[in-house]
Amino acid sequence: MHIRKRVLITGGAGFLGSFLCERLIREGCDVLCVDNFFTGARQNIAHLLENPYFEFMRHDVTFPLYVECDEIYNLACPASPIHYQFDPVQTTKTSIHGAINMLGLAKRVRAKIFQASTSEVYGDPEVHPQRESYWGRVNPIGERACYDEGKRCAETLFFDYHRQHKLRIKVARIFNTYGPRMHPNDGRVVSNFIVQALRGKPMTVYGDGSQTRSFCYVDDLIEGFVRLMDTPDEVTGPMNLGNPGEFTILELAEIVREMVGGKSEIQFKPLPGDDPTQRKPDITFAREQMGWEPRVQLREGLRKTIDYFDGLLAEMDDISVL
Ligand code: NAD
Ligand code: UDP
Ligand code: UDP
Repeated sequence: MHIRKRVLITGGAGFLGSFLCERLIREGCDVLCVDNFFTGARQNIAHLLENPYFEFMRHDVTFPLYVECDEIYNLACPASPIHYQFDPVQTTKTSIHGAINMLGLAKRVRAKIFQASTSEVYGDPEVHPQRESYWGRVNPIGERACYDEGKRCAETLFFDYHRQHKLRIKVARIFNTYGPRMHPNDGRVVSNFIVQALRGKPMTVYGDGSQTRSFCYVDDLIEGFVRLMDTPDEVTGPMNLGNPGEFTILELAEIVREMVGGKSEIQFKPLPGDDPTQRKPDITFAREQMGWEPRVQLREGLRKTIDYFDGLLAEMDDISVL
C-alpha cells in the first residue's frame, strides 16, 4: 500500500502557502494547512477544501500544536512591511514562539522541517550580491526589526535544534516574490504598482526609486521549496532562493505602466525607515546543490500577475455595485 506523506504547512492560506498546498496535493501528499487568517484568506484555499487530501485548521502558531506529520513547512508570518509593522510584538512572537513550537513538534514526531526565512536577514547589505556566508547589516531596534530579527532568531533556533537535537532542517532565505494571490492592499511594491496602474491612479515610488530589488515569480520559488526539502539531510541551508535579475524601483514602475498600457503618473513619496538600498541574491549554492534557477522572466511573470489583478479588480467593482 502506498502511504501518503503527511505534510504540515503553517501559513498555508497565505500567498506562498496556498501555492505550496496545491503543489504538494498534486504530488500525492496529505496536506494539513494551519493558519490564523491574519493576512491569509479563505479564498486562497477555497478550491482545496473539498479535496479529501486537504485539511484546514484555524490555529495561531504562537500556541503549541499537537498533530502527527512527516514534514513541516513553516511559513506562518506576515511578510509585507505594513502587515508586520501593524502589531510588531505579535510579529516577533509569531517568528520566535512559532519556530519554537514547530521545532518542538518536529522533535517529538521526528519530522523534517523547512523554515521560510528571508533576504531581510541581510538588512541593508554592504555586500552585493548577497551570498549565504554574509552575516548582514540589520538595525536591531528599527521599525523593520520585528521582522528581520524575528527571522534571524528563528534561524538560530533551527540551527540549535539541528545541532542539539539532530533535527533535519532546511532553511530558505527567500527574496522578493510576486504573483497571483498577492493581497491587493498589502502594500508590496509589485501589487501596489499593478493595482495603481490598472486603476489609472498615480504610482507611488518611495524615495527617488533608485533602490533595487530582485523579483522572483511564485512558481519558480515553490519549485525551489520542494527541491530544497528533498535534498540530502546534510544540506541544511541557509539557501538563497530568488531571481538574480535586479531592477530599480523606478524601472519596475515604468515596466508595469508600459505593460498595463495606462497613463498613471509617477508620484514620489518619502522613503520608509531602514529601507534597504540594494538587494540581489547570489544563487550559486542553490544551482550547485539542486540544479535550481528561476525560469520565469520579469515581464512574463508580470503579465500573469497583471491578468490576475485585472480579473480581481473587475470582480471587486461588481461586488461594490451590488
Ligand atoms: P502572507 O502574508 O500571504 O502569508 C503568511 C501567512 O501566515 C498568512 O496566511 C497568515 O494568515 C499566516 N499567519 C501569520 N501569523 C500567523 C500565526 N501567528 N499563526 C498562524 N498563521 C499565521 O505572506 P507570504 O508572502 O505568503 O509569505 C509566506 C512566508 O514566506 C512568510 O514567512 C514570509 O516571511 C516568507 N517570505 C516571503 C517573501 C515574499 O516575497 N513573499 C519573501 C521573504 C520571505
Ligand atoms: N510543542 C508543540 N507540539 C509538540 C511538541 C512540542 O507545540 O508536538 C511545543 C511545546 O509547547 C514546547 C515547544 O514546542 O513549548 C518546544 O518543545 P521542546 O520539546 O523543544 O521543549 P520543551 O517542551 O522541553 O520546552
Ligand atoms: N515601494 C515603493 N512604492 C510602493 C511600495 C514599495 O516604492 O508603493 C518600495 C519600497 O520602499 C522598497 C521596495 O519598493 O524599496 C520594495 O518594497 P516591498 O514592500 O515590496 O518589499 P521589501 O521592502 O520588503 O523588499
